[in-house]
Amino acid sequence: MEDADYIVVGAGFAGLTAALRLTQAGHSVLVIEARDRPGGRTFTETRADGSYIDHGGTWVGPGQDRIHALMAELGVRSYKQYVDGQAMMLVDGKAHRYGGTIPWSMRPWVSGNLATAFLELRRMCASIPVEAPWDAARAVRWDATTLAQWLEWHVPVRQARRLLEMALAGSYTSAASELSLLFVVFQLASAGGPDFVLGVEGAAEDARPVGGMGAIYRPMADRLADVLSLGAPARSISQDSAGVTVRCDSREVRGSRVIVAVPVAIAGQIVYEPALPVDRSLLHQRMPSGAVLKCHALYDEPFWRADGLTGQSAAPGTAAAVTIDAGMHEEGPGVLAIVTEGPTARTLSRMAPADRRAAIIDALAHRFGPKASVPIEFTQQDWTAEQYSGGGMISHAPPGVLTEFGHALRPACGRIHWAGTETSAVMYGFVDGAVRSGERAAREVLAADAAA
Ligand SMILES: Cc1cc2nc3c(=O)[nH]c(=O)nc-3n(C[C@H](O)[C@H](O)[C@H](O)COP(=O)(O)OP(=O)(O)OC[C@H]3O[C@@H](n4cnc5c(N)ncnc54)[C@H](O)[C@@H]3O)c2cc1C
Repeated sequence: MEDADYIVVGAGFAGLTAALRLTQAGHSVLVIEARDRPGGRTFTETRADGSYIDHGGTWVGPGQDRIHALMAELGVRSYKQYVDGQAMMLVDGKAHRYGGTIPWSMRPWVSGNLATAFLELRRMCASIPVEAPWDAARAVRWDATTLAQWLEWHVPVRQARRLLEMALAGSYTSAASELSLLFVVFQLASAGGPDFVLGVEGAAEDARPVGGMGAIYRPMADRLADVLSLGAPARSISQDSAGVTVRCDSREVRGSRVIVAVPVAIAGQIVYEPALPVDRSLLHQRMPSGAVLKCHALYDEPFWRADGLTGQSAAPGTAAAVTIDAGMHEEGPGVLAIVTEGPTARTLSRMAPADRRAAIIDALAHRFGPKASVPIEFTQQDWTAEQYSGGGMISHAPPGVLTEFGHALRPACGRIHWAGTETSAVMYGFVDGAVRSGERAAREVLAADAAA
């Protein structure tokens, strides 16, 4: 049995941050990570030539102060997302080029309906107390409503509805019928509103760390190298009046308290002894993840830029639902990131990799022309099949869950403390939210022991 002051389960951004802050405060820590790499839902592949691909979380935006502070601490610079040109929206086979968040080049009633829906979402977000969305004035009604129902009632123009459904339900990688409206409004509000979550410039996809997310999580893991165990899934956590014991397949570790920093969707795979309080235990059964596939097509050059395009595109229902330029900070190959979510991602997930690649490249060629059909390289990352993420991008709440069980998301259960982006009231679902949650959990265990 090894021991330390504190145990951290999970070496994604939340767990690494918690562990780093605790060691900086002079405490001993052991970090238990299931995968054979740190980073969790961020995963940077760095090649021999120095180029890098972010297969998971990628972008940072203004207001995401905690990830920016961490980057400053580690000396990681950022570079702006390429936005010089027009984005493209494809609906019913017709391409629309546009700038900004709303595609005003579509038929006026489509753009108008999108604009009024945005206004309504902004208004709803303003009424959400992000620390306790279940206390919002309309919480019960919104939590009994699915996103699909809200779209049906508030976005009557079919094309506008399809686009917004893809953008919103896509963010939670699920069908709109699976999502609580209260959850959607809360998540948007936690990041400042729909313009931030769905936007690029000055918003959620404003910039990237030079070197990718790995330029941040690798030095964190390096600083924790002596206390970080990889390939060690925590199987059970037991607590008694003196401390906690975390059991993996081939080792046991003991500490005063444990921070569990895994996605809520899979937190229930760990056995807790004694059993967790009923609301926390049932919460683990009620916050699933969705399906998401992130691919990259690499080309000799970013040919879409010469065509006046940013590379950002959206086409509901296609194998390449969303694309965005994912080029590096210096001259390099042209890189298109392709993200496909929800039901379409599940369909793609069932296909053989070669067929999946063919379907996605076909969609790219239809959108960007014949040059798109001959990438020099193509990568596929199916988060849906990742055992230790339980899907992606983030755990969401179906109807009824936030109002009944949301209050159990953050409070510690005795000596078991919870971190992870899903526990953050601010920037829920983002890397920044994960960092905030790790910092909060570190403060929490120290305060609890100081008070004991
Ligand atoms: C395709 C995709 C794109 C995204 N894009 C962005 C983006 O551009 N910007 C952004 O801010 N966010 C983005 N996100 C979300 C972002 O990646 C996550 O919010 C963030 O990485 C979550 O960090 P975390 O530490 O909370 O959880 P995780 O990163 O999931 O870390 C949890 C860790 O716990 C480990 N673990 C699980 N079970 C156990 C166990 N039993 N024992 C031990 N260890 C265990 C896991 O292996 C993992 O390492 C994206 C996510 C995906 C999947």
